[in-house]
Amino acid sequence: MTAARILSPRRDGEAAKTPQLVISGLGVTYATRGGSVKALDGVDLTIAEGEFVTVLGPSGCGKSTLLKIVSGLLAPSAGTVTVGGRTVQGPQAEVGIVFQQATLLPWRTVLENVLVPIRALGKPAEAYRDKAMDLLRLVGLESFADNYPNELSGGMQQRVGIARGLMNDPQLLLMDEPFSALDAMTRERMAAELQTIWMETQKAVLFITHSIQEAITLADRIVVLSERPGRVVEVLPVDLPRPRLADVVSSPRYSELYAHLRDYFRVDGKLTNSKAAAA
Ligand code: ADP
Ligand code: MG
Repeated sequence: MTAARILSPRRDGEAAKTPQLVISGLGVTYATRGGSVKALDGVDLTIAEGEFVTVLGPSGCGKSTLLKIVSGLLAPSAGTVTVGGRTVQGPQAEVGIVFQQATLLPWRTVLENVLVPIRALGKPAEAYRDKAMDLLRLVGLESFADNYPNELSGGMQQRVGIARGLMNDPQLLLMDEPFSALDAMTRERMAAELQTIWMETQKAVLFITHSIQEAITLADRIVVLSERPGRVVEVLPVDLPRPRLADVVSSPRYSELYAHLRDYFRVDGKLTNSKAAAA
């Protein structure tokens, strides 16, 4: 291992790393009562081991569909998806998921909620209690292990969701707009905490958002999707140093990246993708 790698393990060229996720030629068409809806078209995307990739795109462009495909909850209409070198053919333990809503079981304690993926695999939960407590410590909730979800704030519930997503020690963590239901302040804090968790756990992350700020703050690379059917219109490396703290937004480079991305999305009530539409 070179000194450069020890000093900056994530910046030394991802080409040397094994891809954790490879999506190629992905197309998804939903059959509907009136015909069909093409949600994604010709999507290519690779995520290296330990890499943080955000997907930014307008509402309805197929972001959640992309995540369902990678998680194995939905089969592609065209193309292939491999995780850790294996073709995705259904839900698998190597992939963890964090949803937009924390979706915790209200009648189970925080600790029991973190153990849900273990029970889902039919493993003995008792043997994983220590691991679950470690994860609760990682997300700063070890003293809430015996509380119930309704005793926690929205941000805390979402942190339980992150701990649960990490329970099977997945090599790939999928996050579908996980902070969008939170207030702006909590959201910023969660982004900072997630960065710390990611730096500690070294997971590859596919993080979906429609917040440009969130995308820049978190990503090694940002994948911009067009309006439906979602196509990759740009892959933008984010060259800002880490950790990116709250004041990153005042750096000139941040402003450049923001302006560049902002240009894709003109606000008239909702996001529209002017550049992609013109292409
Ligand atoms: P996003 O997450 O980017 O908002 P989605 O992936 O949820 O977008 O949806 C992409 C498009 O596919 C939308 O137009 C949506 O209405 C449609 N869609 C999603 N799920 C289904 C489904 N099960 N059946 C039919 N159409 C769907
Ligand atoms: Mg969605």
